[in-house]
Amino acid sequence: MRTHEDWLAEASKVVVPARPFIAGRFVDAGATTFENRNPATGALLAEVADAGAEGVDVAVRSARTTFDSGVWSRAGVSFRRERMLRFASLIEQHAAELAVLDSLDMGKRVVDAHDLDLPFSVNLFRYYAEAIDKINDEVAPTPPGTLGLIRRVPLGVVGAVVPWNYPVDMLAWKVAPAMAAGNSVVLKPAEQSPSSALRIAELAVEAGIPEGVLNVVPGLGETTGQALGLHPDVDVLAFTGSTEVGAYFLQYAGRSNLKQVWLECGGKSPHLVFADAEDLATTAKQTAFGIWFNQGAVCSAHSRVLVQREVHEEFVSLVAAEAASYAPGDPLDPASGMGAIVSPEQTDRIMQYVGGARAAGARLVTGGERLRRDGSDCYVQPTVFDHVDPASALAREEVFGPVLAVTPFDTEEEAVALANDTAYGLAASVATSNLSRAHRLAERIHAGTVTVNGVDAFSVWTPFGGFKGSGFGRDLSLHALDKYVGLKTVWINH
Ligand code: NDP
Repeated sequence: MRTHEDWLAEASKVVVPARPFIAGRFVDAGATTFENRNPATGALLAEVADAGAEGVDVAVRSARTTFDSGVWSRAGVSFRRERMLRFASLIEQHAAELAVLDSLDMGKRVVDAHDLDLPFSVNLFRYYAEAIDKINDEVAPTPPGTLGLIRRVPLGVVGAVVPWNYPVDMLAWKVAPAMAAGNSVVLKPAEQSPSSALRIAELAVEAGIPEGVLNVVPGLGETTGQALGLHPDVDVLAFTGSTEVGAYFLQYAGRSNLKQVWLECGGKSPHLVFADAEDLATTAKQTAFGIWFNQGAVCSAHSRVLVQREVHEEFVSLVAAEAASYAPGDPLDPASGMGAIVSPEQTDRIMQYVGGARAAGARLVTGGERLRRDGSDCYVQPTVFDHVDPASALAREEVFGPVLAVTPFDTEEEAVALANDTAYGLAASVATSNLSRAHRLAERIHAGTVTVNGVDAFSVWTPFGGFKGSGFGRDLSLHALDKYVGLKTVWINH
């Protein structure tokens, strides 16, 4: 296992990419640049080119040319499978470098990037590579003398716009199924975390994936992101990020070419803890993980805990005791419990919610302070507020930081009503030893994923996505492929 010193040495070696990757090479595109800073120290990592509308256009044209040539879109599935498996192995070989790039860019613990994010992404590329030669098209039961074929065809150019919280994974969740289906992709990473995506695009070419299949255009949302959303030659736009920006993409599609839009937006996921939970101490550990892992920057973070009154006081103490394991520190130090918050602006935003909760009369149980270290003040203590008013901002809005809102309840009916009283519907978890209650709640809670006796479960084999303000369309599993293919009916009369 690597030590702090090993990771510091690794970090001193990395080259931080700063130019768009289009048609198989880094190119000069975009008239302006933006700063990529390490939030853990404030140090400037790179001045990155903002691809802008011009860069997006070059990238989309490259993707289209490659798609139309058929070198990938009409290549045999064995060819795509073999190249994608090679690509996955190259990402695996470069896991340490990619983990460091993500950690430097957006402040996450490097060991989490290396031990969790990277293996998940590698596995995901392998999963879709292996899936594509095992899915058959269909023959419909049409009348004699006719043959009705139902074929799955790639759609063309896929635009992907992703956030900063899991840079490598968010890329893999979009790119792996889109690429496996035969499409060409233009990906815009978040402005805070462009580095790993640019490096991965380079690895794709090294793996023998044809130039133009994966293009990466760094840039700002209002310039490069918007240009991709509005581009008339993008067929599909897959987005992960805030609900507000997700709604822009629907507008962009309406104003341009009716491109298909898939949205994986935010959440305010509830964790319902009943007095009959099998083991409160284990549940408290799960609660802590559900809100403090990745500095709370998880779209399905379980940021609301609803606790039955009989065990409420005991449970809150157990959760508060877990805070010590999540003390923030140097993201490159495996001993740190949490890393840095992505930017000063996001840290300000989190602290506004902390201030608002105090002002609204919630009880601060632990944390609540912004910390300074290594020349940066992008660190926030793991925080718990109790007796949070369900109508308050902390109970209703996505903080995207390590701040937990606890609200007690008395009856199951009340718990379900509180859980569903939200603009979101991404995930929910339930702790109970009552089997009937588990099934009842799995049925009644309106969320894309309900986990019983665990928190925020997800896997490569199961769909992930939400209802209501959390968006639509599913990432992961074979179902994700549906977003990147169209059904074509072919009639042969004979
Ligand atoms: P955004 O929704 O603002 O950003 C997601 C992506 O969209 C980024 O690549 C971003 O670019 C781009 N984008 C931003 N504005 C536009 C625009 N007008 N047109 C086109 N593209 C745009 O999320 P943030 O990263 O800024 O975080 C803000 C909030 O969103 C968080 O606090 C959290 O509440 C939520 N969020 C949810 C995530 C999830 O996984 N569900 C992930 C990240 C955030 P750029 O980086 O340049 O802004």
